[in-house]
This record gives sequence, C-alpha cells and structure tokens, in this order.
Amino acid sequence: MIEINYCNQCGAGVELRVPQGDNLPRYVCGECGAIHYQNPKIVAGCIPEWQGRILLCRRAIEPRYGLWTIPAGFMENRETVEQAAARETDEEARAKVDIAGLYGVYSIPHISQVYMIFRGEIVDGRFAPGAESLETVLFTEEEVPWEEMAIPVVVRGLKRYFEDRRRAVCEQLDDLEEGVRRKVVWWAEAHPKCTTRRRALRGGLPGGAGRGGSPCLAAGRGALRWRRAGRFAGLPRWWGGRRAWRSCRAR
Ligand SMILES: [Zn+2]
Repeated sequence: MIEINYCNQCGAGVELRVPQGDNLPRYVCGECGAIHYQNPKIVAGCIPEWQGRILLCRRAIEPRYGLWTIPAGFMENRETVEQAAARETDEEARAKVDIAGLYGVYSIPHISQVYMIFRGEIVDGRFAPGAESLETVLFTEEEVPWEEMAIPVVVRGLKRYFEDRRRAVCEQLDDLEEGVRRKVVWWAEAHPKCTTRRRALRGGLPGGAGRGGSPCLAAGRGALRWRRAGRFAGLPRWWGGRRAWRSCRAR
C-alpha cells in the first residue's frame, strides 16, 4: 500500500483503519471521513511479432536499467487496454502493431500490479528505440537473452508463448499428408543421433520422444521440394533449413 498522510479532499490528516462494514485497513480522513481506496494497477504489454521473431526492448530507465523486456506500461485513464498495449509499443519500440488478441493475464500481488499481455503483429516491420529504451531487437526463442530479462512475470509469459507456438506447429505437421509424413518419420529414424534433434524433442515436434524427430530430416532433396511447394509452411524457419542440415552430424 502506498503511504499517504493527508486527505486529498480537505487536506486534513488521515489514519489507517478498517472502515465500518469493511474488512481491510484503508486510509480514512479524520476530518471529512473520505476513504482513500487503493487498488492494483494494470500494466498493458505487447509481444510484437515480426516474421517469426519477437521484439524486445532494453530498458533505458530504472528499475532494472539495461535489462530486456516487452513493451509495457501503466494504462492511462480513458483508453482501452488494447490501446494501452499499442501505445506502449509505439512509445518504447517505435513500432505500430495490429493487436491480435489478449495473450495472458498475470498478477503480481506483492506489488499490486496486473499484467495484461497482448500479441501484436508489427505493421510494416519498422521499429527503433523510444525514449525509455536503449535498443530494440527482434529475437527468435533461442536468441532471447533469458538471463538478462527484467521482469519474471514476462519471462513466464514468453516461455509459455513459445511453447504454445511450437504446439501449433506440431498440430500443423499432424495435418501433413500421409506420404510426406512417412518420409519425415523415415528421415527421423535415419538420423537418430542428429545434434539438432534436441530442439525438436524439446519442442514436442513429431516423432518426438520415441522416434526422434529431427529438423534436418526435412532438408533432404525431397524435403526441399516439399518446402518449395509450401508443405512446411508454418514450421519454424530452422526446420528443414540448410543450417539444420549442415549441423546434423548423423549423415
Ligand atoms: Zn478529508
């Protein structure tokens, strides 16, 4: 609770006590009887997305100067929470976003804040550090500076966000036609020791624990054709890419 000393109605001193009919202590004016309620503040934030990456800001302000987080800030009066998320993204990352929807709500009771985090697509791919940011950078999941993040609740949200994204990819792969699927499984079995396999396992990608899904499996000659034909649309960029293929030591 923020400590207050004087009534903002009449200027007299206030005392902390439980008002009649209430069950929590409040600051109550001894003179005019005004009760000064305090409630949690809403922080609106956005996960700005651009071509599979997300945009993070490095803070140019205290607290946690120099650490990374998503664009977020206190909601203003007379705006919607979507507007607040878009405004903060514009102010801190100079990026215009189309708010795609609410991603998650996180309470931080010990500081009486509620984080409402939205997903938003960056409209034109343009961004730059605003006054409260040292820099703004697009990251893949692997590139996110997880050890240098400013706010634990944002880390929680982002981990879940990437998990959800992988699950969506997995569902898409389930939809692949049967022939392609069999080929994918064959490659997975042919490359059981693939070094990039761990990423697939972690992501719960097809062939997962038992069969050993491998992103290099999609980089064979046939797979490149599938890729060109758009059959791997929606899969992570590294899936079937030349980098995954090169880093596979099992060939
Ligand atoms: Zn008063």
